[in-house]
Amino acid sequence: MTPRLRLQPEAVGQGMTSQRVRDRLVERLRETGIRDENVLNAIRTVPRHLFVDEALATRAYEDTALPIGHSQTISQPWVVARMTEALLLQNPLLKRAPKKVLEIGTGSGYQAAILAALGLEVYTVERIGDLLRQARKRLRQLGMNVRSKHDDGRIGWPEHAPYDAIIVTAAAPALVNALVEQLAVGAHLVAPVGGASSQSLVKLTKREDGGVDEQVLAPVVFVPLLSGTLD
Ligand code: SAH
Repeated sequence: MTPRLRLQPEAVGQGMTSQRVRDRLVERLRETGIRDENVLNAIRTVPRHLFVDEALATRAYEDTALPIGHSQTISQPWVVARMTEALLLQNPLLKRAPKKVLEIGTGSGYQAAILAALGLEVYTVERIGDLLRQARKRLRQLGMNVRSKHDDGRIGWPEHAPYDAIIVTAAAPALVNALVEQLAVGAHLVAPVGGASSQSLVKLTKREDGGVDEQVLAPVVFVPLLSGTLD
């Protein structure tokens, strides 16, 4: 699958933000266990340096989380890749390739851009208005069609449910029931679960009887899933 992107010159990047540096990040992700070629290709294509402050652009292709303001972070590329890979694993119960995806926690918009580059129909919800405005601007500039909403994502986005995949990019002490309800049968939900000091990346798969199968993927560190909204 070739991601569809219209890249302006500043999006292509140079020096520490060039294609060569993005390619090197992809090689590192491959060495650390990321296998899905479509996901690696999306990471090779989406200019992560445009999703952080200009002062941090030269660090955008290090495999590390970076601050994006409002005490929030853009996730580490390995975590983005691992979550995306797990989310899209084909399950025979979902009798089609995953298409409609819901993200909770838009943040910088990078994870949403990776999903859009994979050709998915992306819905994303963010509680901090200022971050959402910046993310929308970046996604628009890259010509990416992502639907977004300023709201408390713990209620999901029921109007468009069911989703073929749901990704939560902030940690809650327990899984959010409203989100599980909005999953299609056979669809996966990938989310960090736990408190401030210890979290696990968990993958749930919705069964035909409405229950879920759960699998723990890796230890992770995410900012907390909070209630309410902020401008
Ligand atoms: N996916 C993001 C990572 C952002 S960090 C990226 O690629 O950059 C987590 C984000 O979740 C933060 O922006 C935070 O404001 C948001 N968040 C936390 N609780 C939320 C909630 N209840 N609803 C929606 N967004 C939430």
